[in-house]
Amino acid sequence: MATLSGALIGCGFFAVNQMHAWRDIDGASIVAICDRDPERLRIVGDQFGVAKRYTDAAALFSAETLDFVDIATTVGSHRPLVEMAAAHRVPVICQKPFAPTLADAKAMVAACAKAGVPLMVHENFRWQSPIQAVRAVLDSGEIGTPFFGRISFRSAYDVFSGQPYLATGKRFIIEDLGIHILDIARFLLGDVSSLTARTARINPAIAGEDVATMLMDHESGAISVVDCSYATRLAAEPFPETLIEIDGSDGTLRLAQGYQLTVTGKSGTMVRDISPPLLPWASRPWHNIQESVLAIQRHWVDCLASGKEPATAGADNLKTFALVEAAYAGAASREPVRIDDLL
Ligand code: NAD
Repeated sequence: MATLSGALIGCGFFAVNQMHAWRDIDGASIVAICDRDPERLRIVGDQFGVAKRYTDAAALFSAETLDFVDIATTVGSHRPLVEMAAAHRVPVICQKPFAPTLADAKAMVAACAKAGVPLMVHENFRWQSPIQAVRAVLDSGEIGTPFFGRISFRSAYDVFSGQPYLATGKRFIIEDLGIHILDIARFLLGDVSSLTARTARINPAIAGEDVATMLMDHESGAISVVDCSYATRLAAEPFPETLIEIDGSDGTLRLAQGYQLTVTGKSGTMVRDISPPLLPWASRPWHNIQESVLAIQRHWVDCLASGKEPATAGADNLKTFALVEAAYAGAASREPVRIDDLL
């Protein structure tokens, strides 16, 4: 396979994982990097041996011939950068949260569609191997048709030291973390027709909500509860594990802390340890997320090579993003929100 030439825009905290993953992928290579902060540019450029460095994305697009661009900046810059990529006809990956508002997200999808440019949102949680293993159980038919799901992420891990911006935004857990858990719910149980939400702020030192509980009706008829908290102190800190319970017409599955999967179904009960691999560059407890970065970037390269639409294409991600908007609107109004009305 010919090696695709990519550029990374945004060389911050999380982008380092993306750079490690690109180094592990044969079909792609990062030939240039961009960050408006010269210090971040120096650190990442030196660590990964990238000589072409830009402090201005417009200069990057003018000077380089690129097969794709990987945007790893924070949300405020996503729309202008994705639109810049579309204007230069460069396929684009954009980190989550895709945009500050659903209206911006729709405009970004439209810009890429008009330019005929592939767009993937870096929505990586569904690519974690334990989540893929849960999906494989559902696909096998072992537990029959799911009628109930609980997708849960509860922790007291200090995410603020690595990502200080998370403490200052008006929106916190739904926009930053809940977005992943809502996407997992969609991935496992299908699209959502309505959502009811409640939120709370327990940590007085932050601006946004750090607890959110959402009840969803899926189009399949299944019901799910998605519950997220960064205010939950437990004997053993589970960060960043997503715990899953699914009940089906012929059985149940439970993904418990420590990556223990129990399936009770047509062929009896089976317990498996489905711990994710610890990649050579990964570090606990982030290794679960880090392996999913490699998986989603591999998927992008496969999609570009084959002309297939990525699983988390911009158009797909609008349906996850709508759940975020619905959760904030529903928490404010205390009323259920119909998802179709937002899309
Ligand atoms: P960060 O602040 O550490 O890094 C962002 C970098 O982008 C900074 O170095 C900044 O100088 C640069 N930047 C911002 N605007 C720019 C522009 N217009 N042009 C060039 N450079 C620009 O942030 P982070 O914690 O690395 O988060 C980045 C994104 O990754 C966020 O959207 C965050 O939600 C997301 N994230 C995703 C995951 C995941 O699992 N998918 C995990 C953590 C963070």
